[in-house]
Amino acid sequence: MSRQSGQRTDMPDKWTIARYWAGSPERERFAPWLVPDRPCCFACGWFGEKWEKAATAKGRWGAARLDRAHIVPDSLGGPATADNLLLLCKRCHEDSPDWPDPEEMARWIARREERPSREMETFMAWFAAAEEVPEFKETLASLFERYGADEAARRVKGIMRAQFDQAGTHFGIGISPGTRVAILRSAAVRALDGGGACAPDAEL
Ligand SMILES: [Zn+2]
Repeated sequence: MSRQSGQRTDMPDKWTIARYWAGSPERERFAPWLVPDRPCCFACGWFGEKWEKAATAKGRWGAARLDRAHIVPDSLGGPATADNLLLLCKRCHEDSPDWPDPEEMARWIARREERPSREMETFMAWFAAAEEVPEFKETLASLFERYGADEAARRVKGIMRAQFDQAGTHFGIGISPGTRVAILRSAAVRALDGGGACAPDAEL
């Protein structure tokens, strides 16, 4: 499977590919997670809640961060047609077989484990980071007690935003697990220093 193929414009669009597989007798083997109205990775079911904001199914599939992945690789003569293209998340695309026999892809998909949604993965990553920073959880609890849930959430968001800006300067693009821990530790200190105060423009 070509690693560059997701960017090419001479391929069918994602909605065309989704519609093809929705009507294919091979759907169960090559697109077991496919739901035509709701974009997701054919192999693991991963999806993003934000993709669903578009009004039409075509718009939703277009907004989905999924690669168009060849079943038979283009380097081995596989065509860029809907019957040879699957919509996969980046992780599945990278893990999937580059092999001339389509059966190998079907077997690989059958073994693929379900992946939680994008937003759920993000939440779980922050939850795991918070487990390593007890002072953040304590700070959060005291802010909730002092201000109530809505105001505490507003203040924490403002503080977190400021820590994100700092991480961007130091760590570049992408938030690693270690960076999440550093952001929470820094946010806990800042919240205690400033009593939870945040800049007026920090509201989300
Ligand atoms: Zn996937």
